[in-house]
Amino acid sequence: MTSVDFPKHKKAKALKPGSRRPAKELCSECGLCDTYYVHYVKEACAFINQQFETLEKQSHGATRNLDNPDEVYFGVHQEMMAARKQQPIEGAQWTGIVSSIAIEMLNRGMVEGVVCVQNTKEDRFGPMPVIARTPEEVLAARVNKPTLSPNLSVLEQIEQSGMKRLLVIGVGCQIQALRAVEKQLGLEKLYVLGTPCVDNVTRAGLQKFLDNTSKSPDTVVYYEFMQDFRVHFKHEDGSTELVPFFGLNTKELKDVFAPSCMSCFDYVNSLADLVVGYMGAPFGWQWILVRNDIGKEMLDLVKDQIDTQPVMSQGDRKAAVQQSIPAYDKGVTLPMWAAKLMGVVIEKIGPKGLEYARFSIDSHFTRNYLYVKRQHPEKLEAHVPEFAKRIVGQYKLPE
Ligand code: FAD
Ligand code: SF4
Repeated sequence: MTSVDFPKHKKAKALKPGSRRPAKELCSECGLCDTYYVHYVKEACAFINQQFETLEKQSHGATRNLDNPDEVYFGVHQEMMAARKQQPIEGAQWTGIVSSIAIEMLNRGMVEGVVCVQNTKEDRFGPMPVIARTPEEVLAARVNKPTLSPNLSVLEQIEQSGMKRLLVIGVGCQIQALRAVEKQLGLEKLYVLGTPCVDNVTRAGLQKFLDNTSKSPDTVVYYEFMQDFRVHFKHEDGSTELVPFFGLNTKELKDVFAPSCMSCFDYVNSLADLVVGYMGAPFGWQWILVRNDIGKEMLDLVKDQIDTQPVMSQGDRKAAVQQSIPAYDKGVTLPMWAAKLMGVVIEKIGPKGLEYARFSIDSHFTRNYLYVKRQHPEKLEAHVPEFAKRIVGQYKLPE
């Protein structure tokens, strides 16, 4: 086989839209089962076969060093930093570093296409995965579609188009399945640009979240759970609405997150070459994790467009995480005045930078561990990776 031939991979009939997926209720709708690559689902699905070690070795040439606390939390990496675009892209989720890298890669001919997710005509949050071939098509995919998105549903189009060099932008569960079938795609070169991801929802779940949390759910164009312990909603008229985390209606919202996200331990997108998020950076900055040489090559493309600073870490998250575990479990909701007060206090003295990222990882991993233990006890041992067991093991959990 020459490098331009496609490997002879097995194909199966894609599953029908809306039909039950092999991962059942844990399916995150990553899109793999919408293609003939469904043949590989038993090995590839992040919720059927947890295989971080194998895929980390394949992608980065090394598994995370469990004696290195930063690798336990953030995965294999060469470098971490805070960054922001000198000229932010209007309408991007943060400053648009993700879109800028993708555009550079297309402009320089490094890739022929970019897997990303635009929105449908009818719905600004309705996900529509595409293979973008122009900077305009990449820009049309900017900003989060905060819903489960079948990004891998476009995989068959790669083979059909004859594309050989591809960038895929995606969240952890999509990238785990992608890495597992990577060798079957017939590519000469694959670049993977990941974002962290947590607490995703179905489109119906998103509506429930917006209806319960925002004063004007229909005009929300963007939201983010920010490092200042508030949800920031941006509305059509340019105004920003701030809602403290501690004032969220936990009881109402408890079942809003997708079961896949309640059982996910890949918050930091361990298998991407480069990860661009925000939670390990000071407020207003993005957080960059360069996992391997390919990731470095990608980041270098925008070095002259961004300001950077070293990551910092401040505060101690542990008591706050421990206290939040039973409060979340019991669905405790504070009155808004108390939530606002708590938000102000915690913003002043609470965890910042990498310690905020650890706070968020600890809170979600303990919650998710309890979820898997209670809802899918038969999966607990094999599904929870060793790094997550170590993180969860720092806390006392309710039965
Ligand atoms: P932009 O230039 O605006 O580009 C955004 C890119 O995201 C686009 O290319 C688009 O294709 C892709 N995208 C949009 N929606 C989806 C989706 N549903 N699935 C896959 N890809 C998508 N960062 C953190 O640090 N902590 C978090 O808790 C966190 N949660 C997130 C939850 C979700 C559902 C998503 C999609 C992202 C999350 N991020 C999180 C990442 C962060 O919000 C930004 O996406 C990231 O910092 C990039 O910002 P940007 O301005 O460079 O992106
Ligand atoms: Fe298939 Fe992806 Fe759902 Fe797993 S998460 S069952 S691979 S669509």
